Amino acid sequence: MPADGKPALIKKIRSAGPMRELMGAYFRELDEASKTGSAKVAWCTSVGPAELLRSFGFRVYFPENHGALLGSSRLAPDLIPAANAVGYSPEICSYLTSDVGSYLRKLTPLTKAFGMAGPPKPDILVYNTNQCRDVQDWFAFYQREFKVPMIGIETPRSIGDITKDHLDGLVGQHRALVPTLERVSGTRFDIDRLRETVKCSHDCTLGWKKVLRAAEHVPSPLTFADGTIHMGPAVVLRGDPRAVSYYESLVAELEERKAAGVGAVDGERWRFYWDGMPVWGKLREHTELFSSRRACIVASTYCNSWIFEGLAEEDPFTGMARAYTELFIVRSEEFKQRYLEGMVRDYGIHGIVYHDAKTCPNNSNDRYGLHVRLTRSLGVPHVVIHGDLNDLRLYSEEQADTQFEALIEQLESKAV
Ligand code: SF4
Repeated sequence: MPADGKPALIKKIRSAGPMRELMGAYFRELDEASKTGSAKVAWCTSVGPAELLRSFGFRVYFPENHGALLGSSRLAPDLIPAANAVGYSPEICSYLTSDVGSYLRKLTPLTKAFGMAGPPKPDILVYNTNQCRDVQDWFAFYQREFKVPMIGIETPRSIGDITKDHLDGLVGQHRALVPTLERVSGTRFDIDRLRETVKCSHDCTLGWKKVLRAAEHVPSPLTFADGTIHMGPAVVLRGDPRAVSYYESLVAELEERKAAGVGAVDGERWRFYWDGMPVWGKLREHTELFSSRRACIVASTYCNSWIFEGLAEEDPFTGMARAYTELFIVRSEEFKQRYLEGMVRDYGIHGIVYHDAKTCPNNSNDRYGLHVRLTRSLGVPHVVIHGDLNDLRLYSEEQADTQFEALIEQLESKAV
């Protein structure tokens, strides 16, 4: 309890310390590889084939993670205009524009956080368009800047059932990456090394899933904001044993909270689902507002996007093809509706917040009536807030707060 006697609105998770150390080690290793050439560096999209890259010994860097740092540090709105000035529209992904702006202006939160002058230089750029086309255009900017190879996988979008034909094509595309990866890394492909990396990544996924599923408990031991912080190793260190150990200790801490009946929000009354991207620069404010109303965001599409249960060491290529295609963002509206219905039931959700992010239509699921259909089918109220992941100029705090309050009041009036 703080000195003013009021309950804390944000409760610290002990494992945050070890997580910061782990993320620090990850960035220092990247920096060293980039400066000394001790290892080759591959840039990878956040749901790209990281396991394959690690199996060749690449240090793997994820520009989207840097995009999120630019958002949470609130540097993005000052950097986006630099990308606009070289022709990248203010309407496209603000991760892309803030990252390109950061490169052009030579300003990065990595300096303050990890003492790095900038992101590590790539030896190769590897994308998967499973999430959007922007990632390919984003990497193409750096291909022109650094004059390094860019290779990738083009995944079909809006998929309902995943068929053998889908998988066969994607397995072929994954295999086709191998010769270039061998050439750039100077390492022969080793199927056993890939199996080992895939198994490690799968173990990480299972740990991360346990973390998120801990929030099914009432009261929830963690919030959406906690999830966005602690997902770091699942994003950037999947395939590395340190991520597996990290989630074992985090799960143990959350189990302690559950056993002691300690919720992330004191007196938790309302449980919400967050669909869409976080508003990175406003996560703290959102958490405080919800906590002050005894509401907890217990689950989200975003944090669940780094669960890759399809990974399979026995058949690593098919497993990767499946895991990176099963994702919510790749799927049809019908699949998304069924998925969200399951989440609402599993987590005991009272209301859903849809974030319509202006520059990311791919993660804005209110544009084709899904939110209305879901409220009709489940009777769970929702609110749509308009904003953006990184460009805070597109977000009105006052308007969003009024909408959050209205959702809570709607639930309270029904409960009376
Ligand atoms: S999914 Fe959205 S936020 Fe992510 S890279 Fe694509 S456009 Fe940007």
